[in-house]
Amino acid sequence: MPEEVAEDIQRIETEKSGAHAYIVQGERRTALVDSGVHENLDDLKSDLRDADIEHGDLDLLINTHEHYDHIGVNKAIQEDCLVAAHRYSAVKRVTGDDDVLKCRAHGQDVSGYEVDLWLENNALIDLGGKRLKVLHTPGHTSGSLRILDTSTRALITGDTVFAAGTPSDIYTSGSQGEYANSLRRLHNFRLETLLPGHGWISDDPKEDIAAAIETVEEGMATERGNRITN
Ligand SMILES: [Zn+2]
Repeated sequence: MPEEVAEDIQRIETEKSGAHAYIVQGERRTALVDSGVHENLDDLKSDLRDADIEHGDLDLLINTHEHYDHIGVNKAIQEDCLVAAHRYSAVKRVTGDDDVLKCRAHGQDVSGYEVDLWLENNALIDLGGKRLKVLHTPGHTSGSLRILDTSTRALITGDTVFAAGTPSDIYTSGSQGEYANSLRRLHNFRLETLLPGHGWISDDPKEDIAAAIETVEEGMATERGNRITN
């Protein structure tokens, strides 16, 4: 059953592994942020029905990034709605870059993912009475996006920062330096809530993002130390 986590934003937390999905409802358009792993398809459909969203009612699917646990259900719904992603993420999908996507590790075909809208930093998505600002925050991957609801100041963080300030790992296309820069940028925003792709919600965004910056910077210092001593 979806849970309302901010005004007109519901979280779908499925039984199986994979990222949370978020339903964002405006007056004219309804968006889903991330779709989870393919095993979650039935749960996702049932949760959308519980949220009074019938087949074909979904206007837009936005992916925070291209890792399989966030895009696994895309192919089942991409014919019915537009799919949006950062252009760095989009190009990895349409070229079937499985070093980044990790589809085969989940027994899934890497081909066939479609992206309709190739997003850039600061793009604005107007759902009618609810505007979502797209923030390009590379680090975890090069094409990672955060979605800021400008009315509630809730930030859908994907894998950039989790509750209690836990950062994610740096994957094939990612960069530790860019990760630290992205977190520093996010720290400057006025935020009320963090809605991560995994785990709990955070009601203390400033403190949690600051903790994540510290962890990532410590990792960078250790890396530098290793390079000097090795
Ligand atoms: Zn990821």
